[in-house]
Amino acid sequence: MVRVVCHDYGYDCEFMVTGDVDEVVEKYNQHNEEEHGIEYVKEDLQQRFMELETSQ
Ligand SMILES: [Zn+2]
Repeated sequence: MVRVVCHDYGYDCEFMVTGDVDEVVEKYNQHNEEEHGIEYVKEDLQQRFMELETSQ
């Protein structure tokens, strides 16, 4: 289980998503595309969020 807050990635945005890494990657990517016009590489996000998971 990971928790990702958009604000932590440099946006003035309160979007938050929790769930499995894969689920969070999907939702976070979709949010970024729609709200911030940015599409991340899924593998990069996956790696980033998996690090969050292990550090908790
Ligand atoms: Zn956002």
